Amino acid sequence: MDLYEHQARELFAEHGIVVPRAEVTGSSREARDIARRLGGRVVVKAQVKTGGRGKAGGVRLAADPAAAELTARQILGMDIKGHTVGTVMLAQPVDIAEEFYVSYVLDRTAGRFLAIASAEGGMDIEEVAATRPEAVARVPVDPAEGVTPATAARIAEAAGLPARTVDVLVRLWQVLVREDALLVEVNPLVRTRDGRIMALDGKVTLDDNARFRQERWGDQDDTHTDPLEAAAAAKGLNYVKLDGEVGIIGNGAGLVMSTLDVVAGCGARPANFLDIGGGASAQVMADGLSVILSDPSVRSVFVNVFGGITACDAVADGIVRALDTVRLTKPLVVRLDGNNAARGRAVLDAHAHPLVEQVTTMDGAAGRAARLAITP
Ligand code: GDP
Ligand code: MN
Repeated sequence: MDLYEHQARELFAEHGIVVPRAEVTGSSREARDIARRLGGRVVVKAQVKTGGRGKAGGVRLAADPAAAELTARQILGMDIKGHTVGTVMLAQPVDIAEEFYVSYVLDRTAGRFLAIASAEGGMDIEEVAATRPEAVARVPVDPAEGVTPATAARIAEAAGLPARTVDVLVRLWQVLVREDALLVEVNPLVRTRDGRIMALDGKVTLDDNARFRQERWGDQDDTHTDPLEAAAAAKGLNYVKLDGEVGIIGNGAGLVMSTLDVVAGCGARPANFLDIGGGASAQVMADGLSVILSDPSVRSVFVNVFGGITACDAVADGIVRALDTVRLTKPLVVRLDGNNAARGRAVLDAHAHPLVEQVTTMDGAAGRAARLAITP
């Protein structure tokens, strides 16, 4: 889960990294009062979980409380890369002498963390990284050893950062470890004209596996912006919305992935990924069918099951019982193979639902589901 800038900022401050004074609000009226409290001039910053706010017009300087109110009104409700701005942060402006980039990110392939740092931080860091990679230092960090003052000094040296950033680099590592983050990024980390080192922006991605011990952030799960994905997540389903017209249900992620490929190979596009896993109970089947059938772009549904520990007759029972609670509105093509396939097919044959048909091979069933979806 990603945190908002103001939340990242809160963590930085708790770990002794200097940040500008700031307050958050969803009301432009209140923005005026906040600006007054902060001394009049403020930076108004959209709080959205995406980068590039500055370039999108989501970070703006306001000269006085009246301007802060107006600017907040303009930024609230703005769309930045598909994210609607619901709150703004107002921060005391800082006189910037230099902008740096620093981050720690998990390097899964190397089984380590990576410190990435540059003396040329700010809004053009992507371009710097693309055109002059030598200006961006990458220093591996051993997760067990962490970032000691000696490691931090090496990172600063490699990136050409002033020695006074070493303390921040150590503290930023402590944020990562103690807050269970997979990524911490500060861009820009600045040197102010009066010589202070401050974090002016922050991105923190928490490890969802550690969610249970980071309860303070609550359930701000906005990873499911798609309503179907949100509905599926609420039912505990492993569902991903795709752009096509053939609804897919399968057991096992590998089988479902290859089912998507085979359907695509038959000239139709899969409407989703849905892995119902090993259990394949009637409830899971009913939940999966109801999510898929509520997708208006779905024109046929393909259930592709390879019976293993959960045998095909149990899956077929699950489908039959699911059809008691879910009204089938689109053709359903079922392919059962593996453990107890013959018994499973017999169960579905006996049920004889007019919209359910069976095809015994995966290719044949995919072709049938694809044809049902694309013929007008
Ligand atoms: P981003 O574009 O989403 O990464 O948003 P940032 O928070 O990084 O802001 C973009 C740019 O605005 C920064 O690179 C700074 O140059 C500038 N900025 C942000 N806060 C301040 C501030 O307090 N004072 C000044 N002078 N510039 C700021
Ligand atoms: Mn930034």
